[in-house]
Amino acid sequence: MPDYQAPLRDIRFVMDEMLDYPTHYARLPGGEDASPDVVGAILEEGARFAREVLLPLNQSGDREGCRLEGGNVKAPSGFKAAYAQFVEGGWPSLAADPEHGGQGLPHSLAMVLNEMICSTNLAWGMYPGLSHGAADALRHHGTDEQKATYLTKLVEGTWTGTMCLTEPHCGTDLGLIKTRAVPTDDGAFAITGTKIFISAGDHDLAENIVHLVLAKLPDAPEGSKGISLFAVPKYLPNADGEPGERNGVVCGSLENKMGIHGNATCVMNFDASKGFLVGAPNKGLACMFTMMNAARIGVGIQGLGLIEASFQNALAYARDRLQMRALSGAKAPEKVADPIIVHPDVRRMLLTQKAFAEGGRMLVLYTAQMIDIVEHGTDAAEKERADTLLGLLTPIVKAFLTEVGFEATNEGVQVFGGHGFIQEWGMEQLVRDARITRLYEGTTGIQALDLLGRKVLMSQGESLKVFTREIHKFCQAEESNPELAEFVRPLAKLNQEWGELTMSIGMKAMSDREEVGAASVDYLMYAGYVTLAYLFARAAKQARAVLAHGTDEAAFYRAKLDTARFYYQRLVDFIGV
Ligand SMILES: Cc1cc2nc3c(=O)[nH]c(=O)nc-3n(C[C@H](O)[C@H](O)[C@H](O)COP(=O)(O)OP(=O)(O)OC[C@H]3O[C@@H](n4cnc5c(N)ncnc54)[C@H](O)[C@@H]3O)c2cc1C
Repeated sequence: MPDYQAPLRDIRFVMDEMLDYPTHYARLPGGEDASPDVVGAILEEGARFAREVLLPLNQSGDREGCRLEGGNVKAPSGFKAAYAQFVEGGWPSLAADPEHGGQGLPHSLAMVLNEMICSTNLAWGMYPGLSHGAADALRHHGTDEQKATYLTKLVEGTWTGTMCLTEPHCGTDLGLIKTRAVPTDDGAFAITGTKIFISAGDHDLAENIVHLVLAKLPDAPEGSKGISLFAVPKYLPNADGEPGERNGVVCGSLENKMGIHGNATCVMNFDASKGFLVGAPNKGLACMFTMMNAARIGVGIQGLGLIEASFQNALAYARDRLQMRALSGAKAPEKVADPIIVHPDVRRMLLTQKAFAEGGRMLVLYTAQMIDIVEHGTDAAEKERADTLLGLLTPIVKAFLTEVGFEATNEGVQVFGGHGFIQEWGMEQLVRDARITRLYEGTTGIQALDLLGRKVLMSQGESLKVFTREIHKFCQAEESNPELAEFVRPLAKLNQEWGELTMSIGMKAMSDREEVGAASVDYLMYAGYVTLAYLFARAAKQARAVLAHGTDEAAFYRAKLDTARFYYQRLVDFIGV
């Protein structure tokens, strides 16, 4: 069975040393509760839960899958008990607003825990995974009554949430949805239609499920301007706010799929189900975007979690597996052969995984600070800047981390040789699970259009400049530091090239609008590589500083430099620096 140890030392390096989370939290209203000791204790406990409770259910959940029995879905054995422990431990409420029963800790902290959940059991993690986004959508757009009815339950985790967008004939183009919402005499709506591919659409983990459903009112304008959002509970809340009468929404069937077998992907049939309008009529897509943006970052974290899991197991295997001798002569002469980690190509694969895991973690934690500031910051200018950066980085986090996540989990299989292809080792499951992350919550192609078309070109490059200026300032400040020249020089070049590239696509797009679509995925991947290059340079700066002062963890900090070097020499080098 694959093993996993939460990379707590690396997480603390990024949080405490590189991105100065202690100061970040101290400045955040409510963040003062997240002292380094509290953060440390939460991370330790989260790591224990992930390893001891979730990891043992990952392979069994994959093999057993979900079952539809009498119109109700049963999650794999052990999932329900693990969820009960999760709720009992107060994990769902960690970062929620105290007004609705939350603990009010910064959202970034929940994101770190999410990485551990995704590393140990992605399919399980998707049951509570969408509740946070559903709660967020209701908090921003729901009525006081809706908040009172649903939010506390979602926050405590006794109810979970879903996101019902996709229909058989449309996923990307939601303007085409056919699900109808007809007003009823009691002020509610009768929702009728079929949604497909609904993650955690039905299950036995929680007492109730709140579906957030996109549908069209009878007089709605055509296309995406005519979409409204509705809350449709599986059980209608009774006068005490507890699950009452069963609503007319059922799981019609479960999808048989390539990965995440432990998560129920449901066809959901709405048959005049009672629904409640959330937000203004015809403004549903905007409301849903509150949920989708959170979910997109969440999917990027799925990519990161899977890379880390694959890397840890590939590394352990490479140290253990004996095959052939090193090209330069035996490294373990007392053994029948050398461990495969001596072979440069095996190290290339491991370092690729390591670089994407560490770089991905830096990217997620950097973005998480923007989320904290947008949610809780008090300085208007700082909030606006964080919001711009968050908008720019969200498609990069989602698409870049899931693309390299698939690449890195594939490398994990390769390190295991033929054994990687065999179920028992768990490496092929990580590839199968990683494959969906490039598709749902908007495919890589759609994230790329969002980045290049909406975020960069529509703002005349202004949103990009907010970020490239930050990189430029860093490069200028370190220009004369010979110890960082190997990183800062290529980074400055890349950063300049990013602006030039954007300009050149923008110019071409003026005469041929198809140019944006043609360039977008390459552009997004380029953006991801440059963003990680910036973060690796910052990590190298921190490592150099600690090594200069002397440390008894010299090997850890030297490894930081080695990984940054590998990233620059072997991964970024492909894009022509
Ligand atoms: C396991 C699983 C779980 C899911 N969970 C949920 C869920 O919980 N809730 C939910 O609502 N949905 C969910 N989905 C649906 C998922 O979000 C969609 O499958 C995805 O958004 C793509 O939509 P589609 O499958 O209809 O593909 P299509 O929209 O038909 O796209 C097909 C291809 O065309 C490309 N394409 C389409 N339009 C453009 C364009 N303008 N420019 C460039 N390329 C384009 C796409 O990138 C893609 O490569 C899930 C799907 C799966 C498989």
